[in-house]
Amino acid sequence: MRYLPEPFKIKMVEPMRMTTEAQRRERIAAAHYNAFGLASDDVYIDLQTDSGTGAMSDAQWAAMLTGDESYSGGRSYYQLIESGKEIFGYEYIQPVHQGRAAEKVIFPLLVTHPGMTVVANTFFDTTRAHVGLAGGRAVDCVCPEGLDSAAYYDFKGNMDVAGLEAIIAQVGADEVAGVVMTITNNTVGGQPVSMANMKATAEVCRRHGLPLIIDAARFAENAFFIKEREAGYQDVTTEQITREFFSYADAFAMSAKKDAIVNMGGLLAVREDANLIADIKSRVIPYEGYLTYGGLSGRDLAALSVGIHEGLDYEYLRYRVGQVQYLGDRLTKEGIPFQNPPGGHAIFVDAGRLLPHIPYHQFPGQALAVELYIEAGIRSCDIGSYLLDRDPVTGAQLQAPFEFTRLAIPRRVYTQAHLDVVADALVAIAHRAGDVRGYEITWEPKVLRHFTSHLRPISA
Ligand SMILES: *Cc1c(COP(=O)(O)O)cnc(C)c1O
Repeated sequence: MRYLPEPFKIKMVEPMRMTTEAQRRERIAAAHYNAFGLASDDVYIDLQTDSGTGAMSDAQWAAMLTGDESYSGGRSYYQLIESGKEIFGYEYIQPVHQGRAAEKVIFPLLVTHPGMTVVANTFFDTTRAHVGLAGGRAVDCVCPEGLDSAAYYDFKGNMDVAGLEAIIAQVGADEVAGVVMTITNNTVGGQPVSMANMKATAEVCRRHGLPLIIDAARFAENAFFIKEREAGYQDVTTEQITREFFSYADAFAMSAKKDAIVNMGGLLAVREDANLIADIKSRVIPYEGYLTYGGLSGRDLAALSVGIHEGLDYEYLRYRVGQVQYLGDRLTKEGIPFQNPPGGHAIFVDAGRLLPHIPYHQFPGQALAVELYIEAGIRSCDIGSYLLDRDPVTGAQLQAPFEFTRLAIPRRVYTQAHLDVVADALVAIAHRAGDVRGYEITWEPKVLRHFTSHLRPISA
């Protein structure tokens, strides 16, 4: 793939500042070696997440000024619903304040008794947490190719459809609350799901009468990959691909902070089930507010109604995915292992292979994240055993299938020169990889520990 230059020019700038290595060592120690505890002013290039960190366009900022702040029936709400229906073709679209709010509303409606199973191509951490909080059991079922970081495969995010069938047969369809398709599959490296895989998964769900829900945070990047890689879709627009993909599901939950390029927002939508729509409405009002604002300001709804179209623009997506590919190509040249091919929103450096002397229970992905901060002020995050957490029943540390350090690229924010700084920092760390130490947890909360745990390096 050829890299496409930025299809925009820069109209407003935000200064950033490099610290000294001594300052960074002091700051990361004070943050208990948890990058979530750093002040962003102490970060040079922030690749912690692509969530809510994108740069809005002039058209989005203009829409903010026209936002209608009415409590009910606001103009911005109707604009958003129109955009949403046009793109997804769903009967009901509910704004919510972010993706996990949609999860909080829908999972208790699906998990009708404790212990029910929900299967996904791979759960995102908050989605897994909400299945658990609803009393369900979240089971990952990614295709085997997704678990081999070195091997190229076009659609590593796919559901293991045979595996899904096996789980349903094992627990019984009555004990399965639903099936989740995460696009792109964030946890295995922002890897896409093919249309064929979505169709096959939908067929299994239909046969067993199970609801199929899309976790749709990166729906546009997924559509781009289908257009680039799947036979028969080269002449189909990303809009048409999205329409077809969503037609196979019953509902979707979306964090709009990713592909819809807003700083805050989410959607929960239902294709046609009147009972589910009624149930959702009765949960949204107490948790998120009245139906026509769903926890958001009118100006946020307005920016979202514009951003959701911009995020699907083909030229933008070519630049966006190309930027991630550029960083991946530099790492390939330097021999730094990562989940291959690069995903849509991030490079997942294979810290397990870069730091093979650190065992999973000493969190190689977290160790590399700390090292990147010390080396060049780059903030990233662990997507490995540290993120995965403990077995909820036994309390034993679980071993993730891989130990990644995720370099998430915010949308329309950093330039190629910034990405070169990141690649150079990784090369410098690779040269002294043997000296990087593992970590142990000194304090942790009960849920979603990676955000707030305290860690310390294990002495040699
Ligand atoms: C970000 C994300 C969520 C949660 O969305 P928030 O807006 O952060 O609450 C859920 N699923 C996936 C795949 C995500 O990337």
